[in-house]
Amino acid sequence: MSQLSKIGSDANVMLYPEIVLPRLRYRFCPMCREALAKKILNDDDLERVCCLSCGWVHYPTNAMGVIIIVAVEDRIVAILPPSAPKEYPAALPGGHGEYWESPEEAAVREAYEETGFHVAITELLGWGFNKNAGYPGPMLHFYYEAKAIGGSARDSEEGRVHLYRPDQFPPISPQRGGSRRTMELYLERKKYRSPL
Ligand SMILES: [Zn+2]
Repeated sequence: MSQLSKIGSDANVMLYPEIVLPRLRYRFCPMCREALAKKILNDDDLERVCCLSCGWVHYPTNAMGVIIIVAVEDRIVAILPPSAPKEYPAALPGGHGEYWESPEEAAVREAYEETGFHVAITELLGWGFNKNAGYPGPMLHFYYEAKAIGGSARDSEEGRVHLYRPDQFPPISPQRGGSRRTMELYLERKKYRSPL
């Protein structure tokens, strides 16, 4: 086996710990194409995958996502994904934050993309961390409440948009853990809030 193919296969498996998703494991430096190495670079005692030739260091990062309760007067917006099982027809709008986007900005953008409503964030309901979220990586989620300040209901490829009173909101699949948690936090919060 040539030195090069050896670096491309066995050595690559050795470079990253098991927890790093296979699709995030570089074999060669994306800057200068040299084979990567593993080295402790700081006094944190952590081995980093890095390029000894140009100095590039791989810092795998967690992904960021948002889930939003969009209130339109006394209703909240449900997404009805076409793929959802009959007994769990509903989902909440949400998605991945883009690079350089704050969680609030991501929430405002996703709410508009998936519901057609322009929103203003009214409350951070909580957050969650899903270690097994899959590609692009472990996901830090922010759960928001927002109110519609413009626009109108518009379906997207995520599903049809429907407005429900909170007590009549259809069930959300247990597979949508973040959406369920967001709804739970919203309903808890609502209970202790005095009516306007
Ligand atoms: Zn390099």
